[in-house]
Amino acid sequence: MKITSIHGYHLAFQLPEAVGNSTGFFDRRESFVLRLEGEGGISGWGEASAAQQAVSGYIRQKLAKLVLGRPAHETGRRYAEMTDGFGYDRQGTAMLAVSAVDMALHDAAAREQGVSIATMLGGALRERMLAYASGPFFKPDGDPYRDFEKDADALLERNFRAIKPRCGYTPEADGRMALALRRQLGWDRALMADINQGYTAAAALDSARHMQEAGLLWIEEPVRPDDIPGYRRMAEGSATAIAGGESLSTLAGFRDFLAAGCVSVLQPDLSICGGYTGFKKVAALAEAYGIPVMPHVFGTVVNLYSSLQMAATLKAYRGGGPLPYPFIECDATHNPLLELAGRVNPDADGCIAIPDGPGFGLTLTEEQLAPFVTEHWVERL
Ligand SMILES: [Mg+2]
Repeated sequence: MKITSIHGYHLAFQLPEAVGNSTGFFDRRESFVLRLEGEGGISGWGEASAAQQAVSGYIRQKLAKLVLGRPAHETGRRYAEMTDGFGYDRQGTAMLAVSAVDMALHDAAAREQGVSIATMLGGALRERMLAYASGPFFKPDGDPYRDFEKDADALLERNFRAIKPRCGYTPEADGRMALALRRQLGWDRALMADINQGYTAAAALDSARHMQEAGLLWIEEPVRPDDIPGYRRMAEGSATAIAGGESLSTLAGFRDFLAAGCVSVLQPDLSICGGYTGFKKVAALAEAYGIPVMPHVFGTVVNLYSSLQMAATLKAYRGGGPLPYPFIECDATHNPLLELAGRVNPDADGCIAIPDGPGFGLTLTEEQLAPFVTEHWVERL
């Protein structure tokens, strides 16, 4: 099946109330979703995590000519051609663009074969996995942690058995928040915390000490992703496992991160690190270091279900918490683009099923996206 057209969709929606993390607040979300259309009407979907306009420009100028008229199943060959042409832009926009195209090629190829992407990758190792709630987020105006316990109650009602609030306001406030949530959750549920890069290494270490008694499963992105010395200070000085990697895009970036001993849990994002082809390379590298890998997900239904397909094939580790890793991240903010196929509600064990239908397992149509489209472009053969 040859690819006959490429569709880019810029999507956006307003949040009912601003939400935030240690680096700022936002009340609008934007996403970029890609659809490759092939002979016989088969579509393949992909997503890039950020920078709609830049990603669109890169795909239209550099990648479209490598993809149009070519078979969907040649995923490895396309990846090599797309990344061989990087030149000056070896990370950032270029990798975001490659990620969306590689995801969509895999989805189209699996749909052509009538199998799930996990099956095409060699087969799922599991049928379901623990979903953790990514939230609560900072509240604007005043105490950012107010109502966290109310928010956590709503997540527990939805059966989540693992919760990852945002932190990174002050080390003392972080500690109070984490201890209060631990009291609320009890000890048979997992609690993590995400600093979202906002602290200095010294502040992050102080925060880790204040949160230590809360028994966090991990502390995420304590400092900026290229601050490898800061990560090393955290990894050496914190009694709690350190997680990160969502912002890294290249295999060389992951190599430096792992070789320096920055993290105990690695979280590549399929829509940033080169799609399935890039993710598989990162997962193999991490396995050599004995580091569990689980996908970072914070986007639309495309990235969530595509990441479930990837996660289905990842090596299991017992890292603490109610079930073995990998877990799958589930955005707990208002996100209609995540709920295009219905709301994600974990089962009684806190797990969600990995769909085994063709491609990433769901049928998605242009019509479902329509209410959120701010721009749509097409490149044709
Ligand atoms: Mg994070």
